[in-house]
Amino acid sequence: MSFRSLVLTNFNEFAVEDRSLAKLEGDNALIKILATAICGSDIHGANGSTGRRFPDQVMGHEACGIVEKVSAADDSKLVGKRVVINPLISCHRCDLCLIGKEHVCRSRKVIGVTKGVDGAFAQYVIAPSRNLAVISEEVSPTLATTVEPLSVGFHAVIRAGLVKGDKVLIIGGGPIGQAIGLACIRVGVGDFVISEPAEFKRRYISKYDFRSVPPTELSKIYENSTRPTVVFDAVGNMHSFSDAFNYSDVGARIILVGMDTPNLAIPSYEVSADERTILGSYCYTDKEFKDTATWLGLNIALVEPFISDVTTMAKAPEMFARFQEGSFEYNRVVIAQDE
Ligand SMILES: [Zn+2]
Ligand SMILES: [Zn+2]
Repeated sequence: MSFRSLVLTNFNEFAVEDRSLAKLEGDNALIKILATAICGSDIHGANGSTGRRFPDQVMGHEACGIVEKVSAADDSKLVGKRVVINPLISCHRCDLCLIGKEHVCRSRKVIGVTKGVDGAFAQYVIAPSRNLAVISEEVSPTLATTVEPLSVGFHAVIRAGLVKGDKVLIIGGGPIGQAIGLACIRVGVGDFVISEPAEFKRRYISKYDFRSVPPTELSKIYENSTRPTVVFDAVGNMHSFSDAFNYSDVGARIILVGMDTPNLAIPSYEVSADERTILGSYCYTDKEFKDTATWLGLNIALVEPFISDVTTMAKAPEMFARFQEGSFEYNRVVIAQDE
């Protein structure tokens, strides 16, 4: 059996190609894809600038589909179910996996990211059955793709140990910043501000009724009031990281989520003498992913603004060209499969 895939044939070049299906074995499932979101990491990877995507790859790691077949009889209850796919494939045997930190398993692979592990910009994908989270059919396949970024936001909030009474600053108002805002609401913390320089993104954020300001206004906001106890850096470059120190309170927790640049300088006295804590946050645990799928089913209206555009696999190359060109204003674009 062959099926259509969107292949990154070379950096900035795509083609829709027929690929043949690998044999289904082990504890894997065959999923007929309904919708897959284009992540910022796909956009930056596709032009070769991050070194995190490869020619001849099928990208796509934020996907919703229907289980068509499973190889293990134990998983047969999944057949016919609408699912979202946790793209992290871990060994489930090592010390980290055994303490529930399978998302940082040293031998982890990521569907649609790791070389040789084809992703979900395709009509079909194969994934371990244990990675599938059943999602309510009330959630459209397009919106269901948000479970992945929403889980990233939720894990960051868990890493921060966020509690009622915390005052939060989220730096970066893209989808991950928005997902962190949604996760704050999920855990009952409403006191947060999103710092975002792009006017169109701030307009977008207002669809959730979240408060967002340009970074240039932060000093005014915190001049006469207490500073944030928790700062999420959803950008990860020297501008955002400096703001995290400049505008956080003594003793604050700074959660580094964004991966814009591989090296950051730390203002050492603001860590040592003011006892700030820097915490890294990556992806999510499998439990957080599954809990987020359930949570989304109960909070559809809250998340609705997340997806800005829907396209098809045939039109996706054109969409990637628009991303690279730079003037296209979007939030999250989803590739929907047309049967
Ligand atoms: Zn992603
Ligand atoms: Zn492991």
